[in-house]
Amino acid sequence: MIRLIFALAFCGALSAADFDILIRNARVVDGAGNPWFRADAGIKDGRIVALGNLSGRDAARIIDAAGRVLAPGFIDVNTHVEGAVEKVPRGDNYLLDGVTTIVTGNCGGSEVDLAQWFAKLEKLSIGLNLASLIGHNSVRREVMGTANRQATPEEIERMQALVEKGMRDGAVGFSTGLIYIPGTYANTDEVIALAKAAARHNGVYASHMRDEGRKIAEAITEAAAVGKVAGMPVQLSHFKIDAPRLWGASDLSIGLVEKFRREGVDVVVDQYPYDHSSTNLGITLPAWALADGKEKILERLRDPATRARIVAEMKEMLADLGHEDYSYATVAAFEPDRSLEGRNISEITVQKGRERTLDSQIQTVLEIIEMGNAQMVYHSMGDVDVERILRYPNTAIGSDGGIREFGVGVPHPRSYGANARVLAEFVRRRGVISLEDAIRRMTSLPARTFGFRDRGLVREGLAADLVLFDPKRVQDKATYQNPHQYSEGLDFVFVNGVPVVDEGKIQDTCPGRVLRRQSP
Ligand SMILES: [Zn+2]
Repeated sequence: MIRLIFALAFCGALSAADFDILIRNARVVDGAGNPWFRADAGIKDGRIVALGNLSGRDAARIIDAAGRVLAPGFIDVNTHVEGAVEKVPRGDNYLLDGVTTIVTGNCGGSEVDLAQWFAKLEKLSIGLNLASLIGHNSVRREVMGTANRQATPEEIERMQALVEKGMRDGAVGFSTGLIYIPGTYANTDEVIALAKAAARHNGVYASHMRDEGRKIAEAITEAAAVGKVAGMPVQLSHFKIDAPRLWGASDLSIGLVEKFRREGVDVVVDQYPYDHSSTNLGITLPAWALADGKEKILERLRDPATRARIVAEMKEMLADLGHEDYSYATVAAFEPDRSLEGRNISEITVQKGRERTLDSQIQTVLEIIEMGNAQMVYHSMGDVDVERILRYPNTAIGSDGGIREFGVGVPHPRSYGANARVLAEFVRRRGVISLEDAIRRMTSLPARTFGFRDRGLVREGLAADLVLFDPKRVQDKATYQNPHQYSEGLDFVFVNGVPVVDEGKIQDTCPGRVLRRQSP
């Protein structure tokens, strides 16, 4: 009897309001690319349950959108949050930029035991929805260390088993970082063999390609071949032309992507809207110099003949890119000496009391490598290519960033502002793409590619991941000099129906979920 009364009371309480939250008078940009339309949206139990004229309906909370834009929460399929999400589980820098779902494990680097990691994150509670790829470099490191050689058939099998396990644990696909140690030592056959293990579980192949400059055509062709042979969609990560010598060549690279699409290979790309890139300092050295661990690296640098060969190849690599020296390379994070952060290699060289010559700059680079590498920001792209790639209809927006500890280091601003920057700079100021198209690239396009079937659109029945903003006010604030600044103007951000940003203020709540790959 008591139970019955309780049940009646409980049901009564629910029926008192039609929705948990009712957003009135919004301009809905639905994520599909449709022109905006005016509607109210009702949210209940974490889902969008009604959309249209909902006047006369009631809710526990009513928010007057006053004509602001209601869009799906942004889905950032190119992130690296391992090790950081544990420190900042809410992911403030992404939430305040409108991001509600991230895919991590990109560029070949992921957790290897995803089941264990996902369980840990669920116990911790996270602010954003999170999915992961299983990364080639991490798997190869686990099986072969950083050996500079081809894998044996037995090693391929062991790596395949790890990829297979990652997919069974819920990975959304397989990623490579073919410029990084040790993935760069692998040939295409190895990549295909491992990609097949992910394709069996409907995974995506997300590729940080082997080259983004002089050999970009070969690199795109290799990535497309992996997708074609393994039978899976291909996401080309952070699509760009990263060599000043080749600025303007994005018409050719986009043309090549289109050629493969015409041939039936499903290739799409993502991009962050900046002309600076960010990765480690090691990529300025020849890959062979970084094999077999720290001691071996130091040994090579101590041996005069080997060191001379490294220096000579570094000069060739620099000339290939079209840089005069290393002034394009700024230290973003370097724990052994934080005084270097925010300074470029040329400035650091002078600071060390040396001439600004190329040889002394290389000496500076190698000294940093000897102390343990550094995270860098590189001025490597041209505006013509950034805009042309953004105009390409199959380009999704992905930050290629991570969750940031506020105030630590001088990281690339993309982790704070990638989405707001598209809306403020490329939609509002430059008019490169329309608002509806920009939102599509942040929502339904990446959701489609990565299989998030109940996210990425403002539709009845889908998860209530939503953003509410004024397109005239939305603004990225993070700069290269002062990156630790949150985006402004994303007034409300809902994750699974819970407002995590409320009237522009971050809330003390973590409603994010681990998103494991959904079976078809
Ligand atoms: Zn990458």
